[in-house]
Amino acid sequence: MDAPLDAPLLPGRGGPGLPQARRLVTEIPGPCSRALAQRRARSVARGVSSTMPVFAHAAGGGILVDVDGNALIDLGSGIAVTGVGNAADDVVAAVAEQAGRFTHTCFMVTPYAEYVGVCEALARLTPGGHEKRSALFTSGAEAVENAVKIARSATGRDAVVVFEHAYHGRTNLTMAMTAKAMPYKAGFGPFAPEIYRMPLAYPFRWPGGPERCGEQAAAQVIDLIRTEIGAGAVAALVIEPIQGEGGFVVPGTGFLPRLAEFCADAGILFVADEVQTGFARTGAMFACEHEDIVPDLIVTAKGIAGGLPLSAVTGRAEIMDAPQVGGLGGTFGGSPVACAAALAAINLIESADLAARARHIAELTLPRLHALGDRYGAIGDVRGRGAMLAVELVRGPGDHTPDRATAAAVAAACHRRGLIVLSAGTWGNVLRLLPPFVITDDLLLEGLDVLAEACAEVLAPR
Ligand SMILES: *Cc1c(COP(=O)(O)O)cnc(C)c1O
Repeated sequence: MDAPLDAPLLPGRGGPGLPQARRLVTEIPGPCSRALAQRRARSVARGVSSTMPVFAHAAGGGILVDVDGNALIDLGSGIAVTGVGNAADDVVAAVAEQAGRFTHTCFMVTPYAEYVGVCEALARLTPGGHEKRSALFTSGAEAVENAVKIARSATGRDAVVVFEHAYHGRTNLTMAMTAKAMPYKAGFGPFAPEIYRMPLAYPFRWPGGPERCGEQAAAQVIDLIRTEIGAGAVAALVIEPIQGEGGFVVPGTGFLPRLAEFCADAGILFVADEVQTGFARTGAMFACEHEDIVPDLIVTAKGIAGGLPLSAVTGRAEIMDAPQVGGLGGTFGGSPVACAAALAAINLIESADLAARARHIAELTLPRLHALGDRYGAIGDVRGRGAMLAVELVRGPGDHTPDRATAAAVAAACHRRGLIVLSAGTWGNVLRLLPPFVITDDLLLEGLDVLAEACAEVLAPR
């Protein structure tokens, strides 16, 4: 890297050893990040965008150090990936040990124990005591696609039901399943057929009010499936138990159990996309557990492997074993290095009870977010579970019109102060917090203070 001569001394490694304190030594972005941004503009396609204007150098705990030596508080975890921390010692050691023995053989050529170990862990940890099988892939989108392949193979049906505001990925099939056109779909069609979108029980925006939202929305969805698709044509209903990219929408109470019950009666496979919610993020190992849902198939990725690319489809043995031998796979699917990382990350999540830690993060954070909601009329809703929390910004008290510009201004004010926060939502008007589980209480509270300062700068008090 061409760094200026006065480049700061940067830490040689990340991980929990990094000082857990915010520290700004330049403006954001600093000169080294600006120089890299120029190289980036000449070499990286503009379609790949970034939330923050700084380039990462090292990260660990709740801190990300940029190439100028600024230490930022990370309330994004690389989009819900590094719950166990960036460069967690056990994950780094497992990756180094595995890479030192072999980086790749291809499970489809010469299998290895680490892949089997991850599938055993998935069988043990996912909801339901039935016999299970898993198949491993590389990205979340690839796993969602494979869940649809498996469901179609097992049921002999074509149709797939998805929901408003859903996000399932960027491949052709998963673009069709994703709701939001801009930026995910515009110009990228035609899309895969036989995808049917249904209303979501979105309490803050449900016309009949939040109280009976779950029940009313489920009744609508079931009626639409029966009348417009025909329940007998539907292979799978694919749903995020709490929406991620769609704005951290926690579906109205009763929505998921009623749909699961309907699916079971109609021979439709209930597929939980837990790519973002899985692995302790919501304060339970999987978000389905909050409403005692046992999905037929569960899709996992993001938080599974401490930052290494790995994804999985796990489900009932008879469903998972429906596709013909050789019908599932991929060159890099279940990479041994990613599997070794996953075994280490899963062990950390279990042994340190990081789900309890996620619940503790909610206990510290929710009162602060509600206090902001009381102070500023633009905060229309505070929601989420565990370490997956959000505020939705609107025009003002009683006016639910989404306010994307204000959400972007608050996010930018956070970024300038060295706090990494992400936006989300169909209208881009949701600020979402996804802290790593290993963030210290002090650093989390400092991050929330910074968020409060950013709100004070941008928002008008009630
Ligand atoms: C991120 C995400 C995906 C896609 O995962 P990739 O690894 O980006 O392909 C799918 N579903 C949900 C719920 C996600 O949050």
